[in-house]
Amino acid sequence: RDDAVQKDESQKQDFRNNRQHNPLAAKQNRLLQVRQSLPIWPQATNIRNALLENHVLILAGETGSGKSTQVPQFLHTSAWCTGRVAVTQPRRVAAVSLARRVAEEMGTPLGKSPQSLVGYNVRFDDNVGKNNRIKFLTEGMLLQEMLRDPALAEYSCVVVDEVHERSVNVDLLLGFLRGLVTGTGEAAKKRKGKPLKVVVMSATADTEKLKDFFSEGFGQPPTVDSIPTVNDGEPVLDKEETSVEKSQESSVLSSNKISTCFVEGRMYPVQTEYLSEPTRDFSEAALLQIFQIHRKEPMPGDILVFLTGGDVITNLQQAIEDMIPNVITKDSGLPKLLVLPLYAALSQAQQQAIFSPAPPNTRKVILATNIAETSITVPGVRFVVDSGKAKIKQFRNRLGLDSLLVKDISKSSAIQRQGRAGREAAGKCFRLYTKSNFETLEKDTVPEILRCDLSSAVLTMKARGVNDVMDFPLLTRPSREAMERALLQLLQLDALNPEDGNISDLGRKIARLPLTPAHGRTIIAAADPEMGCLLPVIDIVACFNSENIFVEVKDQDANDEAREARNKLSCRQGDHLTLLSAVQAYASERTDRKQWAKQHLVSHRSMQNVMDVRKQLRAQCQQAKLLTKEELANADDDNLATVSESTGNNILKCFLRGFPTNVARLVPDGSYRTIHGHMAVAIHPSSVLYGRKLEAILYNEFVYTNRTYARSVSAIQMNWLEEIYSGSS
Ligand code: ADP
Repeated sequence: RDDAVQKDESQKQDFRNNRQHNPLAAKQNRLLQVRQSLPIWPQATNIRNALLENHVLILAGETGSGKSTQVPQFLHTSAWCTGRVAVTQPRRVAAVSLARRVAEEMGTPLGKSPQSLVGYNVRFDDNVGKNNRIKFLTEGMLLQEMLRDPALAEYSCVVVDEVHERSVNVDLLLGFLRGLVTGTGEAAKKRKGKPLKVVVMSATADTEKLKDFFSEGFGQPPTVDSIPTVNDGEPVLDKEETSVEKSQESSVLSSNKISTCFVEGRMYPVQTEYLSEPTRDFSEAALLQIFQIHRKEPMPGDILVFLTGGDVITNLQQAIEDMIPNVITKDSGLPKLLVLPLYAALSQAQQQAIFSPAPPNTRKVILATNIAETSITVPGVRFVVDSGKAKIKQFRNRLGLDSLLVKDISKSSAIQRQGRAGREAAGKCFRLYTKSNFETLEKDTVPEILRCDLSSAVLTMKARGVNDVMDFPLLTRPSREAMERALLQLLQLDALNPEDGNISDLGRKIARLPLTPAHGRTIIAAADPEMGCLLPVIDIVACFNSENIFVEVKDQDANDEAREARNKLSCRQGDHLTLLSAVQAYASERTDRKQWAKQHLVSHRSMQNVMDVRKQLRAQCQQAKLLTKEELANADDDNLATVSESTGNNILKCFLRGFPTNVARLVPDGSYRTIHGHMAVAIHPSSVLYGRKLEAILYNEFVYTNRTYARSVSAIQMNWLEEIYSGSS
């Protein structure tokens, strides 16, 4: 017996030693401690119980309280959870970074490996394994999965995160999910009695609208059971224990179908400062503010700067780095500055960098878009600099197009941004606008569904069997006029049958592609054997789905050689074919692509992204039987295929098929006017056709500065329009 005791003791000792020496176990332990300190941790039992009884849980909690990382882990082990847990995100970057984090916390590899419990699926990047229990995905991808499986049979639970962002996709998703949880509609029957649980998570406490929306679906007046709010640090165990017993007793049949839960985050005071005079140049103001903080404010404390987009961020990063040697001299005794960009088009590795603590005696400056507002929590931040601006998608009625516009943010966005400074300690927020400016901001951001082109949304509904789109349950209803405009646009693209307005076969094909209906239609036109230009069209569409591949040429920084090299890529027919020639030249470069990109004033980073998107689009076209295996195998990048004039014309005709209203013609006074609406537009200075007078132009988008510009422009012939409408392609 003594031996046995001794053996047991030594085993325990081994185990302890092992834990000390096993870096993985130690890491796991460290992560567990972090998890346990999150404000949501004490709510785990409450959250689990809420779903034992109810179908829907509405959970509101401060950004950083642990919703996105912890809730899926609380749920996937529940007895009812025999299928997967899906967690949706409005942005790819959040889906990927959360999946990585949760896999790490659970101590399993990420993605396809058989041991992996966590995977992700975002547009152009599918990393899901057979044994994944938790799957992070963008809202768009879950909608895409519903085409294949409208009942979402593989899931027991869908966690809809970041609903406060109110993307169009989240609004659509809530409509479909309401049908599934309430058991209405055909799709719900296909679940064969297996319930689906839905968790709706929001960073704002405004949950009434969501409660009413789901209650209406259950056909009941709002009967809502609230879980008591638990303040961080308050002892809650007793309360929890009793609620466990109670809810388990009554878990069989509950009349309460919806629960709500509030998690209060840790919030330290944030002192807010405004500019005394408005500024015209927020980048300049940000630059000064960052160095002022660095000189005056104590360490530790990283700086988070909210800006509008990748281009502004790259320029400001350069400006800061140029200024560092002048300010942080040996004599100044100032700590170092490490500038980290954070925006959607960055690679995963670059995005992940913001989570690492700064090296010793270094302050991090994170230059971010509104990704960092709620989607991603950056640890270590004590100072926020808020430009007060964001790039917002906006539909222009007269132009019939979506465009990204730099706009003032709403008050609630400004408050979210300010909150980022007070997560770990008292902080400061510097608003680069005046106090009276703040007072004039809109209260909330208008939901995207009221701002954007609805053709994608309507096609999404039609493809999932919603024939009467006016009747579809939506949290906020767009105007009838906007819906009708979208229907008309889809008719023009042949995505709907003109007789009954239901989705056509072509519409179904378009809906399967992860693109806007216009780009989807372009791809399908290109796959027509008469056109025979699918591969080059994919290359161009890939460019339109990535950040700009051409580096902005400023007079002072481009040498003649690079300009000449870049000019060689230009095609006289316009920007579409210029993009194509750049992609093909880059792809056929086998020795040093980075060097090639530099020599041609092309962004290597954007090009890498284009190549990624192109690969995925090719695979998807193959799946959709638009492209055969042989054609794909013959797509040989080593032989630069020069595009003949007729192929070039065919390519442009395909784009015209997808964008039949994005055409402007030259009028006698020498300006261009759109064929619909007769609006004056000018060719954007970035275009290879800038300053040219042509019969007619086709453009991909509008940009607004002091006037309306058409960007990504090509020359077309007016008779092509007639040809298209009389032909079948
Ligand atoms: P919420 O959803 O409530 O905003 P999260 O679950 O996203 O909260 O974040 C909880 C904590 O986990 C935050 O403090 C954040 O810093 C950390 N975290 C989240 N994602 C990552 C990541 N990819 N790498 C490192 N830490 C992360």
